[in-house]
Amino acid sequence: MTRSIAIERTAAPKTKPDEKQLGFGKYFTDHMFILDYDEGLGWHDARIVPYQPIQLDPAAKVFHYGQTVFEGLKAYRTNDGRILLFRPRKNIERMNRSNDRMSIPPIDEELFMEALTKLIELDRDWVPSEPGTSLYVRPFVISTEPFLGVSPSRSYRFMIILSPVGAYYEEGIHPVSIHVESHYVRAVAGGVGTAKTAGNYAAGLKAQEGAARRGYTQVLWLDGVHRKYIEEVGSMNVFFRIGDTIVTPALNGSILEGITRDSVLELLRHWNLNVEQRAVSIDEIIEAQRSGALREAFGTGTAAVISPIGELSWQGEAYVIGGGKTGELTKRLYDSLTGIQFGADPDPFGWMYEL
Ligand code: PMP
Repeated sequence: MTRSIAIERTAAPKTKPDEKQLGFGKYFTDHMFILDYDEGLGWHDARIVPYQPIQLDPAAKVFHYGQTVFEGLKAYRTNDGRILLFRPRKNIERMNRSNDRMSIPPIDEELFMEALTKLIELDRDWVPSEPGTSLYVRPFVISTEPFLGVSPSRSYRFMIILSPVGAYYEEGIHPVSIHVESHYVRAVAGGVGTAKTAGNYAAGLKAQEGAARRGYTQVLWLDGVHRKYIEEVGSMNVFFRIGDTIVTPALNGSILEGITRDSVLELLRHWNLNVEQRAVSIDEIIEAQRSGALREAFGTGTAAVISPIGELSWQGEAYVIGGGKTGELTKRLYDSLTGIQFGADPDPFGWMYEL
């Protein structure tokens, strides 16, 4: 169904950045999508306009009470110039689950899909073609009602912005060092850990700073109740290969339901490997490391796709996993997923959506 999205094209297209120096989230394309919500009217006035700052009342609720959600997905350019989105419906569904948790009204899925495709189509030339680069897509909702009171906002703005991003690993994938956090926690079941909402990320900064000071790139979070079960890593879900089994924490109500996680699980099952989604304690991982059973560990997420974990620090000790090298299964997953995403390999699961 075609809905009406008004389009105002920019009169002043920007100069595109050097595709070899993109980094992550630094550059934005020529256009953005806007959809407004007002009580009584519902979501209205879908439009694409030139990328520009927005004006908000200083009392807008988002600034005070953090009623806001976001998503992140990527569009890839294939060797023959086609543009593919990776499982966009999954992000749309997850955003509406986040909306529900944060008392934000749901967004029509078809309109969301049309907004994504129309916007990316308009800024198609911004999808980079250097190896490993892609267009990062950031949909988000903010609460805009100018009112200092803790209650659901009566107005919202949904926007989509686009950012050409570089290869996460400039010289192929390489293992990262992770600090297991024992003081701070990220989320608890019943809280908002399963929602992609700003506060979860703000709450993680303090631990992340501490880890960075010690030379670690990310934090591995433990559960907030027992302080021993593994949750997730920064903005990635986490997997361990112990003996012949691949284990990942179950979706327990406090971790984000990653779309890369789901895709990795499908691939592993497709390859007939043993997979377990269950509670995994840090003690079990350290024990598996000591006995030599822990063969590989990796994170999964949209930004890096698959990120090998070469070292874990826990209670002042550093544990080097798999000799600090990228494991064989980790590499196979990375090659398989990126092969599908960039359209170089067949797509047996029907994950890619061609624009
Ligand atoms: N956990 C958190 C907290 C995240 O922010 C992300 C990134 N969206 C992930 C896991 C991985 O999710 P996905 O594979 O959908 O990017």
